[in-house]
Amino acid sequence: MAPGGGTYEAAESRPAFADKDMASISVELRSSPFRKSASSAGGLYRARSNSEVHELLECPVCMNLMYPPIHQCPNGHTLCADCKAKVHNCCPTCRHELGNIRCLALEKVAESLELPCRYQNLGCHDIFPYFSKLRHEQNCGFRPYSCPYAGSECDMTGDIPFLVTHLKDDHKVDMHDGCTFNHRYVKSNPQEVENATWMLTVFNCYGRQFCLHFEAFQLGTTPVYMAFLRFMGDDCEAKKFSYTLEVGNNGRKLTWQGVPRSIRDSHKRVRDSLDGLIIPRNLALFFSTGTSSERQQELKLKVAGRIWKEQ
Ligand SMILES: [Zn+2]
Ligand SMILES: [Zn+2]
Ligand SMILES: [Zn+2]
Ligand SMILES: [Zn+2]
Repeated sequence: MAPGGGTYEAAESRPAFADKDMASISVELRSSPFRKSASSAGGLYRARSNSEVHELLECPVCMNLMYPPIHQCPNGHTLCADCKAKVHNCCPTCRHELGNIRCLALEKVAESLELPCRYQNLGCHDIFPYFSKLRHEQNCGFRPYSCPYAGSECDMTGDIPFLVTHLKDDHKVDMHDGCTFNHRYVKSNPQEVENATWMLTVFNCYGRQFCLHFEAFQLGTTPVYMAFLRFMGDDCEAKKFSYTLEVGNNGRKLTWQGVPRSIRDSHKRVRDSLDGLIIPRNLALFFSTGTSSERQQELKLKVAGRIWKEQ
């Protein structure tokens, strides 16, 4: 797991409550259960009671927050709709037959709750009504990024500095400093264009990181190579940059000018949208350096590029 990923735990992130406070909290809970707003002195109590109710709303099977319809067994054990569909009508807690009982009380409680964003420990301090929390979290600027390395089943998530270290240490990705580059890609057996990721290089410039992907795949019936840039950050920032990629030889060249895509967009999504430099294989072989018989054995492409910030 990435540092900081994980679920919200209000109780642990706050200093322990004094005994005196605990006593008044239980009074508060009894007298005005789960009230949305409280007097100014009730701020802490509200957080505390919210966190306890928050636990009640956690599905005991998948640990996610439950949203209506919330189900319960005849003995009162609750579970979420997704899990209910998977447990073959048998309560996971007591094994009793589940039936079709809704837990309307808990659904009502959920409606009245306000909870902090689950990425609070990553820097988001917003509080949301229960039902808009999920929607916010899907777009929260503090949500962790997924590992941009493609072609492997990597489910690492984290912030950008963490992922840069992860790419370097765990995927052995090449790192380069500077806004211009001149890269040589060598591919043995260019007659085989398998659907595969070929190469990832990370560039450090303007204090930010960019992933240059280079790969080979079949576009319809045409084998192609494709190079494109992704920005390690959000889309609104990615749009402030532009880049060019150039490949050529023998007095001819192909140039692509584009805008890096955020790594919030999956590698596959960017690739499938063909948002990058696409080189059909016959052209790639033409651009390849070396004699013609060498080119059949090994494709050597020089790709030059530049990244700049738009004013
Ligand atoms: Zn569940
Ligand atoms: Zn049960
Ligand atoms: Zn947030
Ligand atoms: Zn990874």
